[in-house]
Amino acid sequence: EAKAKGTGQFVEFTPEMQAAQDERFLLQRELEVALETQALEVAFQPLVRSSNRQVMGFEALARWPHPRLGAVSPGVFIPLAESTGLIGQLTEQMLFKACSAALHWPNHMIVAVNISPVLLRSEEFVQNIVKVLEQTGLAAQRLEVEITEGVFVYDTERVVGHLKALRALGVQVAMDDFGTGYSSLNYLTRLPISKLKIDKSFVDRIGEDSANDAVVSCVVGLAKTLGIATTAEGVETEAQATLLRGVGCDYFQGYLFGRPTIDPTATIIASRNNLARVESGLTDEQKA
Ligand code: C2E
Ligand code: MG
Ligand code: MG
Ligand code: MG
Repeated sequence: EAKAKGTGQFVEFTPEMQAAQDERFLLQRELEVALETQALEVAFQPLVRSSNRQVMGFEALARWPHPRLGAVSPGVFIPLAESTGLIGQLTEQMLFKACSAALHWPNHMIVAVNISPVLLRSEEFVQNIVKVLEQTGLAAQRLEVEITEGVFVYDTERVVGHLKALRALGVQVAMDDFGTGYSSLNYLTRLPISKLKIDKSFVDRIGEDSANDAVVSCVVGLAKTLGIATTAEGVETEAQATLLRGVGCDYFQGYLFGRPTIDPTATIIASRNNLARVESGLTDEQKA
């Protein structure tokens, strides 16, 4: 491991550390190339209404089909992009691809795009969103940005200003991974957010831990009182969906309803057919 010597200026590198750093530099260079060649893809995961399970939109998730390593996890390449200054370019491409795709969906469907905390501080952030909306022609109301809590530790005023500008345009703002940050409740009242996404870690424990269920129920109720909609992330079981619906959670996202897919056409058609059945008063069995 690293040893600080003397004044602490010199750090000794072991062969393992050197190898890890070489791998990181290589991955960074490959990410640069992937961005230059527009090689990143977007996977879309359905967001469904809890009342009838109709698809109300999709979350866009970055995918990197890597020539050497196969699929690299966003948990690896997103932090890499953030620490190397590539995240702006990555996000711009994601926004453009996601908004372009949404143009082919029914008008009532939204697309949610993850925005890295480091970008929310920059002046160009709002202009970039406006530019993408203009270039693609997507209505602002159909775009939702997902932000995480981490960012607000610094420069809250500035970030609040940027988010207010987006809301004024009609763009929706969702707080992602709610409950995992430092001062969730504080931000809930101070930020102009339209939706709160309850973190998967709370959803995972539903039915196993009564204190956890009470927290979920209270968060949904509190959001409702504040006029904020709620989405539960990572819903995998019917038992979780039942409890969440019972406490008033508005939307679901999770493997129970659909995994992220590069082409969501089949999901859209299935949802549309299902809606037609419901509207014509026929159940799935009767129509089949
Ligand atoms: P997130 O925004 O909270 O996205 C949800 C993650 O949970 C996705 O992982 C999704 O595939 C996964 N997930 C959804 N439902 C289930 C479920 O039922 N079970 C399980 N086990 N997992 C589920 P993914 O695609 O690996 O993305 C991980 C994170 O990487 C995202 O978390 C987001 O924070 C980040 N990310 C992905 N794409 C982007 C991007 O374009 N920009 C930025 N800034 N971050 C991104
Ligand atoms: Mg997200
Ligand atoms: Mg999330
Ligand atoms: Mg999450």
